[in-house]
Amino acid sequence: MSLRKRIYDFSTILAAVAAASVMMAGFSLQAAQQPGYTDTPYIPYGKWRVHDAARPRPEVITPGKEGRAPLDAVVLFDGTDLSQWHHVRDGESTPPTWKVGDGYFETVPRSGQLVSKEKFGDCQIHIEWATPSEVKGDGQGRGNSGVFLMGVYEIQVLDSWNNVTYADGQAGAMYGQYPPLVNASRKPGEWQSYDIIFEAPEFKDGKMSEPAYVTVIHNGVVLHHRQAFLGETFHRRVGVYTEHPPEGPLALQDHGNPIRYRNIWVRPLGDYDQNDK
Ligand code: MG
Repeated sequence: MSLRKRIYDFSTILAAVAAASVMMAGFSLQAAQQPGYTDTPYIPYGKWRVHDAARPRPEVITPGKEGRAPLDAVVLFDGTDLSQWHHVRDGESTPPTWKVGDGYFETVPRSGQLVSKEKFGDCQIHIEWATPSEVKGDGQGRGNSGVFLMGVYEIQVLDSWNNVTYADGQAGAMYGQYPPLVNASRKPGEWQSYDIIFEAPEFKDGKMSEPAYVTVIHNGVVLHHRQAFLGETFHRRVGVYTEHPPEGPLALQDHGNPIRYRNIWVRPLGDYDQNDK
């Protein structure tokens, strides 16, 4: 073989390697754009294959830094003002009267519920609260407030540290319906948190066709796991459903005790594959 021929062969190999590299790079670029499969079986619940390459990727959101709201959340209180809230009296909106302190706000006895202006259906809620460090009263009269989902389904707020009351009325109870699985209460005056995942009820022909479900995590501890409400929550009455719109406000109870709240945010929840448009 002549030297020229050998150089020719070598350059052919180089060109082939270069072409193969381009093809491989192209293939992996394509794979990076649409990783997944097109020949796997369909998942029984719908139109997607197992590991479907065409299934849209969920929206990218920015989680909050420790103790802060995720960037896609509706922030109802960030420590500064009550602009996201009002009172509702006889169907009329009136300005909020609860006191704003240094990074928190506090109930004002006999002022009525504080109600969010925005309304929500299925959602994730984060809320922090503290009962007075100076203990006054007992039972239901000690540090009582409440987080009312859609304005009518109460997760109880109470000072339940060494404070005995009826089980379905202690802190974290689905009031009058289910006690919390455990009592995860902190001491009076300490900040506590609720992380709540709520599914709004559905109504058909004026009757409840799907109940409201709630998951409640208190100070990092599960109190209820997708438990169904029996209906709206009442004092001394069994809960019943009354038809209401698919979205409702978050409301905080004025039960005559000075309770503090801070860091309140809500994330409306949609279904899977929200990017499938
Ligand atoms: Mg209450």
